[in-house]
Amino acid sequence: MYQLSICHLYPDLLNLYGDHGNIQALKKRMEWRGIEAIVYPVSLGDMFSPSDYDIVFIGGGQDYEQGILHTDLMERKKEGIREAVENDVVFLCICGGYQLMGLYYKTSGGDEIPCLGIMNHWTIGNEKRMIGDLIFSIEGLDQEPNGYVVGFENHSGRTYLGEGVSPLGKVIYGFGNNGEDGFEGARYKNVFCSYSHGSLLPKNPALTDELITLALKRKYKDFVSLQPLDDHLETKARENLIKRFIRK
Ligand code: GLN
Repeated sequence: MYQLSICHLYPDLLNLYGDHGNIQALKKRMEWRGIEAIVYPVSLGDMFSPSDYDIVFIGGGQDYEQGILHTDLMERKKEGIREAVENDVVFLCICGGYQLMGLYYKTSGGDEIPCLGIMNHWTIGNEKRMIGDLIFSIEGLDQEPNGYVVGFENHSGRTYLGEGVSPLGKVIYGFGNNGEDGFEGARYKNVFCSYSHGSLLPKNPALTDELITLALKRKYKDFVSLQPLDDHLETKARENLIKRFIRK
């Protein structure tokens, strides 16, 4: 039986707009296929051991929560997270979690907070928040229509990507990384970053399956592919949103 260990980083601090739903989607889609999923909450005071996990999830938080965990993240977990990323562990980082993977976060008040510096992106806070439904396309994602992914964003930070980091997708509706360059999220090795919160994986099963597949291929040399599931409800939910916002 295949088994994957999922680390949920700071579940008590970073859990906006149902980010926990991303963990549930990963777990359920594994269990429906007879794959064991064990979720480990890792928070303030806990060590992060890079070889213990196959998938790591970091959710979003306001500047306030990001501030509470900052010292713990930088002093206790930074090197472990870097090692896991470089060893191709699969990561999903949402909003505040996405910002923390980058070089720095400059708040709208002007303070520059150093982040993990594992990925080459940076974030600048703005008075005007970017809030609302988000639709973006991921090239090559096997999801109808056109690899479109639906989600929900709420951030004041504008994120810019530097060399070595690719955008996760292209904005079709909404703001994405900064409301300017048309990109949403970031990809580096097996790290997936997005501004889209807890509806991301539940409403976009192909993306969920991509993360599970990458983790299984990394861990089990004999693993080939996931068996398909009946996704008609998820597809209806996604198509309904796409119709509402871009096919009026
Ligand atoms: N504090 C960050 C911002 O407002 C992240 C917010 C979030 O995770 N929703 O940009």
